[in-house]
Amino acid sequence: MENKYDIAVIGSGPGGYVAAIRAAQLGKRVALIEKYKTLGGTCTNVGCIPTKALLDSSEHYHLAQTDFAVHGIETDNLRLDFNQFIQRKDDVVTQNGAGLNFLMKKNKITVHSGTASFIDAHHLLIKGTENTDVIVEAAHIIIATGSKPATLPGVTIDKKRIITSTEALSLTEQPKSMLIIGGGVIGVEFASIFARLKTKVTIIEYADSLLPTMDRELGKALQKSFGKLDIKLELNKRVQSVQNSGNEVKVVFENEGSEQQELNADYCLVAIGRKAYTDQLNPGAAGVEVLQNGKIKVDGKLQTSVPNIYAIGDVINGPMLAHKAEEDGKYVAELICGEQSHLDYKLVPGVVYTWPEVASIGQTEEELKADNTAYTIGKFPFLASGRARASRDLDGFAKVLIDPKYGEVLGVHVIGARAADIISQATIAMKNEITVKELNDMIYPHPTFSEVLKEAYLIGSGKPSINI
Ligand code: FAD
Ligand code: NAD
Repeated sequence: MENKYDIAVIGSGPGGYVAAIRAAQLGKRVALIEKYKTLGGTCTNVGCIPTKALLDSSEHYHLAQTDFAVHGIETDNLRLDFNQFIQRKDDVVTQNGAGLNFLMKKNKITVHSGTASFIDAHHLLIKGTENTDVIVEAAHIIIATGSKPATLPGVTIDKKRIITSTEALSLTEQPKSMLIIGGGVIGVEFASIFARLKTKVTIIEYADSLLPTMDRELGKALQKSFGKLDIKLELNKRVQSVQNSGNEVKVVFENEGSEQQELNADYCLVAIGRKAYTDQLNPGAAGVEVLQNGKIKVDGKLQTSVPNIYAIGDVINGPMLAHKAEEDGKYVAELICGEQSHLDYKLVPGVVYTWPEVASIGQTEEELKADNTAYTIGKFPFLASGRARASRDLDGFAKVLIDPKYGEVLGVHVIGARAADIISQATIAMKNEITVKELNDMIYPHPTFSEVLKEAYLIGSGKPSINI
């Protein structure tokens, strides 16, 4: 009885802990199994939370150097205490972890510390750190084991100078220079953190723009803002090798068909994507099928090839985002408990926490073109917003894509101050199929950054803006 549960959840990231809490709320006896020493997974320990802590600290330092004097604030002898910069991030992570421990106790969830591997479809072996093996039996099992950084063929992550985002969060010295392979989400967030500290940053990206999977205008606009931070870009470049020579790294790369180039720096951060994490899980022992890309195969209800086993979050196909993992976790817990639940991947917002922030929901212009879908564009610059002028946040725009026949909002793409928060307004509109005509009748508080969306909707519906 002791280790017999209604539901065992493997992995305590935003997918796993949300699934565990929701199932416990619905009256189930739940076990949460985690191999890492603290709860919270990638997001809490080495992902969303620590990056945002460092992004905020670095932005304060950057503004103190570049902007405060304009406001009449003098900061003589400004300097950065790099150890404290890292320590504050660690404190934020610890606080979040403590919050999760409290939630586990509150919801009477049993936490097993150790690495889970399948024995069969109802039994897991949990290997603890001190030879404390435990066998857990569960009617239902949820795989929420997340992801880990991908590497390039022939490139070894030595975790010393050739590093991933995990090591970049806990460096013991401020790098003078850093090469970042990959201009995706991790690449641009870390480029921001270190360039604001005056580290010389170069991004080497395979595609012809930053953030190539988002609406292309966003990455192009971010490139302009990155120019002001003195971030160098090597676009359309394929990396061939990375070597640690002791005191520095050398990265060799080439343009297709052109000569090889090489750059040296203190560190090379490899940020070319993440892959499913199923090491030691042994899903085959339960008959759980794994796709060729290493992800766990699930159907539309997130059920694996074994009926009592589900998989959620980064370990399955789909966007690798914390809020998507959370939604998966809630959905599966409710499904197992016999509740009515609904999962809709059409409207998953994506946010990049650079400054200006970048945020998107719905279809991109490239996707609409590829589908031959008719659309009109409404675009409004932050430069023309009174609120943006008051805070000197002048970079960026809001771009809305509208269906010309019914006035439905097809996509919203924002780069600018507080885009991360503005995007939820667009999500509400799209989720409820509010037409652009109805949105034009809405009163926005003035002055706010969200007015850029109001103006973009107006222009997208074919009406002239009052402000440009
Ligand atoms: P994870 O959070 O990866 O958790 C999986 C857990 O399972 C881990 O704790 C792991 O130790 C454990 N585990 C694995 N195998 C076993 C096993 N066999 N036994 C026991 N335990 C096991 N997303 C956002 O939405 N917003 C952001 O701002 C954001 N920033 C990010 C920044 C960085 C640097 C990174 C790397 C990612 C970021 N992400 C962000 C992505 C986000 O962290 C992930 O999408 C999210 O954590 C996925 O949640 P998950 O529950 O599927 O898995
Ligand atoms: P990514 O897929 O966002 O970007 C990887 C980039 O690397 C792409 O632009 C790709 O073109 C480039 N690339 C691939 N191979 C290359 C090569 N050989 N040479 C040069 N460039 C190459 O992946 P990521 O930035 O590593 O992030 C991983 C995951 O973590 C993402 O799915 C993301 O959703 C998640 N994440 C989210 C946030 C957020 O929501 N704010 C923050 C960080 C990470």
